Amino acid sequence: MPSGQIFNIQRFSVHDGPGARTTVFFKGCNLRCLWCHNPESFSPKPDLEFNPQKCIGCGTCFRVCPQNAHTLDASGRHTIDRTQCQHCLVCADQCYAGALKAVGQTVDTDYVMKQILSDKDYYDRSGGGATFSGGECMLQLEFLESLLLSCREASVSTAVDTAGNVPFESFERILPLTDLFLFDVKAADPVRHKELTGVSNERILSNLHRLRDAGARIIIRSPLIPSRNGDQIEGIARILRDIRPELVELLPFHKLGSSKYAALDLPDPCLDEAIPDKDTVDRVLQILRSAGLNARKS
Ligand code: SF4
Ligand code: SF4
Repeated sequence: MPSGQIFNIQRFSVHDGPGARTTVFFKGCNLRCLWCHNPESFSPKPDLEFNPQKCIGCGTCFRVCPQNAHTLDASGRHTIDRTQCQHCLVCADQCYAGALKAVGQTVDTDYVMKQILSDKDYYDRSGGGATFSGGECMLQLEFLESLLLSCREASVSTAVDTAGNVPFESFERILPLTDLFLFDVKAADPVRHKELTGVSNERILSNLHRLRDAGARIIIRSPLIPSRNGDQIEGIARILRDIRPELVELLPFHKLGSSKYAALDLPDPCLDEAIPDKDTVDRVLQILRSAGLNARKS
């Protein structure tokens, strides 16, 4: 049975497609968006989070770590030498205070389907279903395909949330099993897209056009981080005018990911970024609507 690496299953989600949904977050991503609020999705392997506020100083992790990766720095502060850590997660298993936490687990299709099917009544009543997100869920194609097939057999509606940076053949494989695509468009200009996400958008936009031509149902999701992609909105509107998605959802930047960067000892590129105010969001929505798009804030 196919299995994959995920980092969360969120029930009763109302932001990942229509109705009440269960969202499955796949681990691993081939973009590095500067504003990402799920840094635990970057690596396809399990991660170790450390929350010093919860540490009671019992010393267990120092004793059990085979790599001696838990150390005290010159000021006596408990740190993890990430260059030594082999991700065995023994320390997280033994930390009863919950200061160390394993993020990511390998699960099979049956396990995920059990979680999804437990809320089927809610999907049926609300027009919801299951959403496969990440990370980039399309990087674990066999696992994704197996989940989509199981949902189809169980009459659960499905959405695939993707940044689109995969070969189009991957879309062709899941297209017949997917009811809705939540497709990210983050910038219009390829050079700016690369600066902001680490990759050009040429393949992404080609995939989007081909998906539209194949008759897929598409909702576009565009993040708004005014100092980063605020200059891209008019270009995005021009691209989407041609795509004619059923909806464009604007995702204003928020700071909910900051504590996760700290827990993973990763630098947060948007630590000092401002949250866009209502006037800014309304102005951007107006640009999108002026292009004839059905746009709303997520
Ligand atoms: S095992 Fe947990 S509570 Fe104990 S020292 Fe390590 S991090 Fe702190
Ligand atoms: S995950 Fe394993 S190697 Fe890494 S710090 Fe914990 S015990 Fe050490």
